[in-house]
Amino acid sequence: FEEKGWRRVDDYIGAALISKEEAQEETLAANARAGLPAIDVSPPQGKLLHLLACAIGARRVLEIGTLGGYSTTWLARAVGEGGKVVTFEVDARHAEVARANIAREGMSARVDLRVGPALEMLPLLESERGQAFDLAFIDADKPNNAAYFDYALKLSRPGALIIVDNVVREGAVADASATDDGALGARALFDAVAAEGRVEATAVQTVGAKGWDGFLIARVK
Ligand code: SAM
Repeated sequence: FEEKGWRRVDDYIGAALISKEEAQEETLAANARAGLPAIDVSPPQGKLLHLLACAIGARRVLEIGTLGGYSTTWLARAVGEGGKVVTFEVDARHAEVARANIAREGMSARVDLRVGPALEMLPLLESERGQAFDLAFIDADKPNNAAYFDYALKLSRPGALIIVDNVVREGAVADASATDDGALGARALFDAVAAEGRVEATAVQTVGAKGWDGFLIARVK
């Protein structure tokens, strides 16, 4: 099992390519102090989200699953001044920690953090008829992934990216004997995306400090 090596390489990548300012060490420390689970994306993954958002010139980002605002901040930096990240978090305590982290990173003006169950709050976002999103990052409760994907698709412009984290789950996605909620949620997502003619998609496995998992990446046609 390679986990130790994966972590070492993530540290190496971080040291080589991610500046101290980008790395948000204070956010990760504040999350740990507040007892939040360390289930944020890794620094290299956060930078990947940032680079993808920059590459498509994203100005409006939808995020489902804020936790302590770590990925939110990577995305907020990408949208630039005047850009917006609308992010949903069900846990009021997580949201409180995220608000403080986002403020410390100077990103409050770019972040619209909404507290509550995302699936119940997305209809309101839809009814607001705001500008379409350029990128969506889905990283919350996994059984709802297919439903979140539907909303992200509805609210996104052609050319937008929809990225979903944790779709491999240490291989459980492709192991028929795995029937936990996460594996079933991941498979339901793959089925929904495969049947959706309005996107083209792939998934990539990831290894690193966060173990063996993967991102699904879809582009709205
Ligand atoms: N994206 C974050 C990052 O990389 O820094 C990590 C998000 S963490 C994996 C998942 C978060 O989704 C948790 O904070 C959890 O409370 C939140 N969550 C779970 N169910 C939710 C729901 N129904 N609506 C909104 N947020 C939810």
